Amino acid sequence: MKISSAELVISAAKEAQFPGTMFPEIALSGRSNVGKSSFINTLLNRKDLARTSQRPGKTQTLNFYVINDRFHFVDVPGYGYAKVSKAERAAWGRTLEIFFSSREQLKAVVQLVDSRHKPSEDDVLMYDWLKHHGLKVILIATKCDKIPRGKWAKAKKDISNDLNMQAGDPLILFSSETGQGKEEAWREIKEALFS
Ligand code: GDP
Repeated sequence: MKISSAELVISAAKEAQFPGTMFPEIALSGRSNVGKSSFINTLLNRKDLARTSQRPGKTQTLNFYVINDRFHFVDVPGYGYAKVSKAERAAWGRTLEIFFSSREQLKAVVQLVDSRHKPSEDDVLMYDWLKHHGLKVILIATKCDKIPRGKWAKAKKDISNDLNMQAGDPLILFSSETGQGKEEAWREIKEALFS
C-alpha cells in the first residue's frame, strides 16, 4: 500500500467527538506494550505517528488517523493499563461499547497479541467480545523476530487454539523489526476496507 498521507484527525474521549465522515475504518486493539504503535508506524512507514509507549494515567481516547484521505485507522488505547477512577472507567467502557457495537463504517478490528506468550485473559475476553459483536478480527501476533522461525507454526497453532479461532480467521505473525507479515497484514486490511 502506498501511503501518501497519514495524520491524526482527532483524539476522541466520547462519541460526540467521533468523526462524522463515512471513511471505512480499521480499529487497532491490544494490551499496552504489545507493539501496537510499532505496528501502526510500520504499516504507515512512519517513525512516530502513533506514539510508542504512551504513559498511563492519561485521558483515554480513541485516536482517529486519516490515511490517504480515504480511510481511518482508529487506535484504541491499550487495555489493562490506565490508572483511572471507577466512574471514569465505566464512562470509557460505554464509549468503547458504542464504538464497537454501532460504528457503521468500522470494517474490521486488528487485535494484537504477543507471539511469545499465551494470550492473556484480557486478550481472550477482548477477542470473544469483538466476535460477539459480529466484527471481523484480524489477529496479529507481534514480535515474532524474538522467536526462532522453527517455532512459528507452533506459536500460531497455540494462539489459534487458545482464542478458539475458526478456520479462515486471519492470524499473522508480525515483526516491526524485520517487516515480517507487513504485506499479509495489508492484504487483510485492504480486503476488509474495500471489498
Ligand atoms: P504499544 O504500547 O502496544 O504501542 O507498544 P510499542 O509499539 O510502544 O512497543 C512496546 C515495546 O516493544 C517497545 O520497546 C518496542 O520497541 C518493542 N517492540 C514493538 N514491536 C516489536 C517487534 O516487532 N519486535 C521487537 N523485537 N520489539 C518490538
